[in-house]
This record gives sequence, structure tokens and C-alpha cells, in this order.
Amino acid sequence: MDNETTKNFIETIIDEDNEKNTYGKRVHTRFPPEPNGYLHIGHAKSICLNFGIAKKYGGITNLRFDDTNPSKENTEYVESIKRDVKWLGFDWDDRMFYASDYFDRLYEYAKKLIRLGKAYVDDLSSDEIREYRGTFNTPGKESPYRNRSVEENLQLFEDMKAGKFADGEKVLRAKIDMASPNLNMRDPVLYRIVHASHHRIGDKWCIYPMYDFAHPVSDAIERITHSICTLEFEAHRPLYNWVLEDWDDPEGQKPRQIEFARLNVTNMITSKRKLRLLVEKGIVSGWDDPRMPTVSGIRRRGYTPESIRDFCERIGVAKADSMVDISLLEYCIREDLKMKAPRLMTVIDPIKVVLTNYPDGKTETMTADNNQENEAMGTREMTFSKNLYIERNDFMEEPVKKFFRLAPGKEVRLKYAYIIKCEEVIKDEDGNIVELHCTYDPESKSGSGANANRKVKGTLHWVNAEDAVDVETRVYDYLLKDDGSEEEGESKDFLDQINPHSLDVYHSKAEKALATYHVGDKFQ
Ligand code: ATP
Ligand code: MG
Repeated sequence: MDNETTKNFIETIIDEDNEKNTYGKRVHTRFPPEPNGYLHIGHAKSICLNFGIAKKYGGITNLRFDDTNPSKENTEYVESIKRDVKWLGFDWDDRMFYASDYFDRLYEYAKKLIRLGKAYVDDLSSDEIREYRGTFNTPGKESPYRNRSVEENLQLFEDMKAGKFADGEKVLRAKIDMASPNLNMRDPVLYRIVHASHHRIGDKWCIYPMYDFAHPVSDAIERITHSICTLEFEAHRPLYNWVLEDWDDPEGQKPRQIEFARLNVTNMITSKRKLRLLVEKGIVSGWDDPRMPTVSGIRRRGYTPESIRDFCERIGVAKADSMVDISLLEYCIREDLKMKAPRLMTVIDPIKVVLTNYPDGKTETMTADNNQENEAMGTREMTFSKNLYIERNDFMEEPVKKFFRLAPGKEVRLKYAYIIKCEEVIKDEDGNIVELHCTYDPESKSGSGANANRKVKGTLHWVNAEDAVDVETRVYDYLLKDDGSEEEGESKDFLDQINPHSLDVYHSKAEKALATYHVGDKFQ
């Protein structure tokens, strides 16, 4: 997509608002995670969108923790979220907030709604509320407590706050319309009683605002202009607007909810609930396991922030749900590393090669490009000797058709070095191949030998056995066997889709230059 000339639909909305001067040309967005898990690739999309769009318009973005559900939230999640947003390259400056910062104001605003006759305390149980709500085809039924006086409601609401009732005994509900075709408008619950300790504010409150109440009010308090959320909230938008009808903004500006399609990626799970299950069941080593689609997982896997931002830019912003192929994400990291990552040689699953006609004790120095596509990255030296390692699957005793790597009697070039020929396969008593005895063509040295340009079909990577460093290689495959799509109404259990071979560990040999790098460095 050409982003210079093609605007996404959210930018079009902002342009219109700027033209009409709805917000005095302000653009103020927020990223509102609930601290009940680690951020995943879908959140990264939302972060790039919220921070990216504000930046484009010279606006600002808040980080706001939507911490209205004390039993599921904790500070470990808060810290991980801050780390991940920063790592992605975005900055909230001094604008980090918590919905719990606003509990006093939310409470006052709820009382205002009660005074206006727009909210009431209900004694129905949650089951009864559900039953009274009706269905898509049948209207709801009004609660017998719906017409309590303002005074009684105020008193009961205060008593709720004072802890006089047990969980579920009472709720505060909006008084809207039990016959509304939109079920979200059938007197939704605004406050519930939860006797649980909150990770930040402890036991100060035992009533907690519902998302549909806390979210618009938090947006309004922060004077957000464009409140971007995912499509499943589309039917909540009338409620979002209803909640803010009586909100006093100093300039009469009210935030506007805009929905976009959530990001789904093949072979990736984008549900915190499911990701938590993987962690709790020990299927992965933690939220930051490199197989996880979490921001911290893909970071450990070697993804760069640039590659994630590029990915989010390429997929754009859609109004209809869709599935993005994971290969696009992989393409983005390859593109990003292509010019900047050194390419060192590591033999993942090594097999020994002995060059029988190479002098004992001799070594030579070969010059290797650090990155064939980027000369500016320079070269390095690799030592070459009689004893080498190559990749086990670069050899086939009985080569299949079109196998151009090493086989008995066949020749290959060792990259930056000589052409070798396999003369003999050495096996142990169980028939396992333990060594390959080869000869080399002394005239074939890359760059300088008389046969330097002699053509052979295969070129292999290798390391020198005498100075190779031992490394453990963890080869990760997809955590989900198939595309793991999470389409609505999906019935298959995602735990059945877990790939049992998502992690294979090898004892590998790397060229000695690897030892000069650090944990977290990236290679291709
Ligand atoms: P989950 O379904 O994984 O629990 P969530 O929406 O409940 O996700 P929040 O912490 O509430 O998690 O999400 C914070 C923000 O990230 C929200 O604005 C939400 O719309 C957005 N978001 C979450 N998942 C995705 C996704 N897959 N694609 C795009 N945006 C997402
Ligand atoms: Mg949410």
C-alpha cells in the first residue's frame, strides 16, 4: 500500500474532524491495555496504530491501564506492557494513567447519572439480569427495582461502596431501554461489587466500574479525541455515546469511538486467555517463550521493533476481520535483517569431515563476507584445516534426484574455501555415519586458486573443528500445527493443535567469531 497517497479510513475521519474543527485540530489517542497478561502481536498492531496515527498528525498518545478487574490483574503485567511498548519504539512521555486513577471521578459521575434518573441500583442476580435482558428476537423485561427513587438509589449506591453488600448482591445499572434492539442498551450494568484486593489501590474500593462505563469516562477525562478499538465494540458505540451524554467537557468536546478489525495471524494465537493457558499448563516456558506470539516472545526470537512496525504498516487498517499469513511477518524480519545482520557460519547438526590429503597441522585463513548483500559490513577471517564440520543433512549416502550437496564420489565447494570430494563414509558398529573422509582440490581455493572458478553444483557452509565453539541451537517451529485460526464460533480445541515439535535442541558448532558477539545479537 502506498501510504503517501492512500489514507486509511481512520485518517479520513480525522481529516473530517479537523476540517469541521471538532477537536480544535487536536489528535489525542490512547492505548488501553488491561494488565491481565502480556501484550501479543495484535496489541502491537493497536500500539502502532494509536501511536502512529497521533504522530502523523502531530498529536499525542496516552498509555492507560484499564485496571477495573482486580482479580485478574497484577504489576508484573503492568511492567511487561511498559517494557514492550517502549521496545516497539513508542513513548507516552509523562502520560501514563490508570483507570483506577479515576475511580473517585467515575463514582461521582455515576451519582450524577443517578440524580438525573439515568441509573439505578438493582437487586436482581446476574442470572436474573441475563434472563430479563431478553434475546435478539424478544424484548427485555424491566427489573422490579427499576423505579426506585433517586434518594433510595443514592443511598444504596453509597452502601454498595461502603461494603454493606456481598459480591453480586446489587449492581448499578444504566436506565436506558429494555426494548432496545441493541442488547447493549438494555440497562447495562455500570458497577458491580467485587471484594478483592486491587494490585495498585488495595482494598480502597469494593465496587468496580464496568468496562463500558469506565472506558468512555476515562477517555473523556483524558480528553481523548479518537478512541480506537476493535470491531467487537461496534455494537457498544451507542452505549459509549450514551454514557458521555452528561459529561461536562470544558470545550464541549467528546471522544469518538472508531472501530477497526482486529489482527489475526495464521499459526498464532491472539487471545490472552489462551496464551495464559499455555503458560499455566507449562506447554511453553513462560510468556516470553520464543514460540509465543507475545511481543516479548517474538523479541527473544530475534524480531526487531523495525520489522514489527513494518509488518503493521504493510497490513494496514481494515474494517472487516481477516487473517494475515504469518509468512508476511517472517518476510518483514528477513527484509529488516538483510542488510544489517552479520551472516556467520554455524553447523546446527554437525558431522565431521576429514580432508585426507590436507597436511596435518596446517591451517589457512579464509576471508568471508560478513554480509554478502552489504559490502560495508566488511569481512572476517575463518581458519581452515584438515578437520571440519558440515551439516549432517548436507550429506546423503544415497542421494535422491536433484540433491546437489555432498554424496559419495561427489564434489561440493566449501564456501570461501576449497572444493572437496567425498571418498569414504566412516560408520560405527551400529551403522551410524560418524565421519566423512574427503579430499580437497588444492587448486580450487576461492579467490586465488587456479581452479577458483571451477564450477560444482553445491556450496556448503562449514566450520573448522579445531577452533569451533560449542553452541546450543534451539530450532523453533510454529506452536500451532495448522493456521490456528480463531474465527468466530470455532469449535476445535486449540490445545489439540499444538505442534509437539515446536522446539528442537541441537548441540552445534559455530565458527569462532560467534564468541565475540553478545546475547540478543542477531544473525542471518
Ligand atoms: P485479548 O482478547 O487478547 O484478551 P483484549 O482486547 O481483551 O485482548 P486489551 O488489553 O483490552 O486486550 O487490549 C488493549 C487494546 O489492544 C484494545 O484497544 C484492543 O482493542 C487492542 N487489541 C487487542 N487484541 C487486538 C488484535 N488482535 N488486533 C488489534 N488490536 C487488538
Ligand atoms: Mg479488552
